[in-house]
Amino acid sequence: MHFLSERARKFIAIEERYGAHTYDPLDLVVDHAEGVWLWDVDGRRYLDCVSAYSALNQGHRHPRIHAALVEQANRVTLTSRAMYNEQMPRFLERLTRLTGYDMALPTNTGVEAVETAIKLARRWGYAVKGIARETAEIIVFSGNFHGRTIAAVSASTTPEYRREFGPFAPGFIPIPYGDADALERAITPNTCAILIEPIQGEAGVIVPPAGYLKRAWAVCREHDVLFVADEIQTGLGRTGDLFACDYEGVKPDVLLLGKALGGGFYPVSATLATTTVMGLLQPGEHGSTFGGNPLACAVAQAALDVIVDEGLVARARYAGAKIMQGLRAIASPLITEIRGRGLLIGVQLAVPARRLSEALLERGVAAKDTHEYVLRIAPPLVIDDAELGYLLERLGDALAALPANP
Ligand SMILES: *Cc1c(COP(=O)(O)O)cnc(C)c1O
Repeated sequence: MHFLSERARKFIAIEERYGAHTYDPLDLVVDHAEGVWLWDVDGRRYLDCVSAYSALNQGHRHPRIHAALVEQANRVTLTSRAMYNEQMPRFLERLTRLTGYDMALPTNTGVEAVETAIKLARRWGYAVKGIARETAEIIVFSGNFHGRTIAAVSASTTPEYRREFGPFAPGFIPIPYGDADALERAITPNTCAILIEPIQGEAGVIVPPAGYLKRAWAVCREHDVLFVADEIQTGLGRTGDLFACDYEGVKPDVLLLGKALGGGFYPVSATLATTTVMGLLQPGEHGSTFGGNPLACAVAQAALDVIVDEGLVARARYAGAKIMQGLRAIASPLITEIRGRGLLIGVQLAVPARRLSEALLERGVAAKDTHEYVLRIAPPLVIDDAELGYLLERLGDALAALPANP
C-alpha cells in the first residue's frame, strides 16, 4: 500500500466501509482507461493484464463499440421480452452465423448462461435421452469455475466458493480434469451432459493434456451425452482461436459465451445450441428481464465485429507467443512453469504471486494473482508490439527485484 496517495486511500477506505468484502483487489483506483492502458486517480499509467478476466478482449472503450452503445442509447435501451426489438434479431443472426450454431438464448452475466445450459441439458436428458425425471447427472471437473450462483457453486470443488453456503443443488458429479478415462468411467445412463472449461482460467490457467478435449468429445458422442463448453473466459479470441475448443477441432453441443461478448461496455452472455436442443425450451420456461435488450444487442454486435474485422484472434496468438518467448528468455529462477495459450497465460512461481503482482504494479503493470502461486497475464487482444515490449521489460525488472526466498 506504500505508494498509494491520500486520495486513493480515501476511495479504498470508503469502499471497505460500505461494500461487502467479497474481493481482494489490487491497490489501484482506476480513473480512466483506453486500449490496453489504465490511469489511476493520481494520473499514473498501467498496462492492464487483467482485462476484467477476459471481458476486455477488444480493449478499453473501443471507439466502434462506444459508437454503437451511444447510437442505441439514443434510440431505445430496454423493451423486455414482452415485445420485439430490432437489435435482438440482428444480434442472434450475427452470433449464430459466426459460431455455426442454429439458435442462441441471450442473457446478461456469464453465470446466467451456465444456468441456462444446466436447465437445457437436464431438459434434453429427460425429453430426448429418456432419463427418469429428477435423476439427471451433469459431470463437472475438479477446479472448475462456472460462476457464483447456488447451481454454479454446487458444481464447484473449491472449498472457499462453497463454505457455509449449502445445501447445494444435487446432480453434479465432479471428476478429475484432464483424464478422459475417468470421464468414461463416470458416465452412467443418467448422465445428460459434461460441463467443461477447455482451459481452466480461474483454477490457474490449467491447460489439459493434448488430445483430451477431442477424446472427451468422442466419449460424449459415444454415450449420448451433451458436451457443454464454458467458453465465457476462453472464448472470442482470447486463446488464439475464436474458441479454445477449435484448437482440437471440437464442436460443443452447447457453447457458453459471456465476458468479451459485451465488448467491455455491458454485460452480455449467450447460450448457443442446435435446434434439437434449444428448441426444447417453451415460452415461460426460462428468461431474464434484461436478456436480449437492444442496448446489449447493439453493443454485442459491435463487439463481435471488432474481434473479426481487426483480426484479434490472430493477434492473440501472435502476442501470446511473444510473451511466452519473452518470459522464457527472462529465465528467472522464480518461475517454475509458464503455461497457457494465446493471451491467457499463467506463470507458476516459487514465491507467492501477490509479490510479483505488487512489484509489477509499482512498475506500471496491473496483473493479478490467481490462487497463491500463479500470476495470470491476460492483456486486451489489441496489444501492439511496443506495448508487448513495455510489458516484457517490466516483467523482467519486477522478477529481478523480487527476493528469492519463499
Ligand atoms: C467469469 C466466468 C463465469 C461467470 O461469469 P459472470 O459474468 O461473472 O457471471 C463463468 N465461467 C467462467 C469460465 C468464467 O470465467
